[in-house]
Amino acid sequence: MAEAENRFTTEALVIKEMKIGDNDRLVTLFSREYGIIKAFASGAQNVKSKKASATSLLTYASFAIKRKNNSLRIYEATPITVFFGAGSDITVLALSQYFCELAYVFGTEGEPNVELLRLVLNSLHFLTKEKRFPPLIKAITELRVAAVSGYAPDLVACESCGKFEDAVMFFDIYNGILCCKDCLNDNRLKPVDRTLLSSLRHIVYSQFKNLYSFDIPDNKAKELSEITGEYITVQTDHKFSTLEFYNSIKE
Ligand SMILES: [Zn+2]
Repeated sequence: MAEAENRFTTEALVIKEMKIGDNDRLVTLFSREYGIIKAFASGAQNVKSKKASATSLLTYASFAIKRKNNSLRIYEATPITVFFGAGSDITVLALSQYFCELAYVFGTEGEPNVELLRLVLNSLHFLTKEKRFPPLIKAITELRVAAVSGYAPDLVACESCGKFEDAVMFFDIYNGILCCKDCLNDNRLKPVDRTLLSSLRHIVYSQFKNLYSFDIPDNKAKELSEITGEYITVQTDHKFSTLEFYNSIKE
């Protein structure tokens, strides 16, 4: 019995990896059953080790883990999906790392968060496998992550007068509310046209199965991505280093 209690298996995405010495690796996993967990992988640097690929960043794998003296050790790992491979471009890698940072910041250690995991895995799929336009997938991911993590904006209507729609409305990223041009009294608010407003509403309010099934012109997706990036940064008061890196290299 004692033996059984000290071993468990879980499917998880590798969201961080760190080399320890010549042969070992400390990986941070976003797991289906236990949320964020940190585990050692011995011999994971060895290219012949089958654990090596399964414990690499951006791999979703099935892990068999042993608990010993308060630390976790991976003794078996079988890759299910590898989201990053040779030939992927730097922008896609930077965004993938940003999605991992979102998982790390909003995930909880030891507790499952299936909704957040599903969101991050789907976003990685649409970004790296379906090759959807990166700024659009970024906008969808960061605003939906914010929304499911307690930072949902209220985008139903103008907060002051209740107007539902106009050629241009204004998004108050500081208070997470909408404002129409007649009620506007703060020049920091972001103007959003009908395309941007309906995109923002779709990301926050659509059912998960429809979340990724909309498209807008590339220039609008870039604008949307600027707004959602500022929104999550302001709302959570968190400095996402991977987002800053992405912003420094994006076209
Ligand atoms: Zn108004």
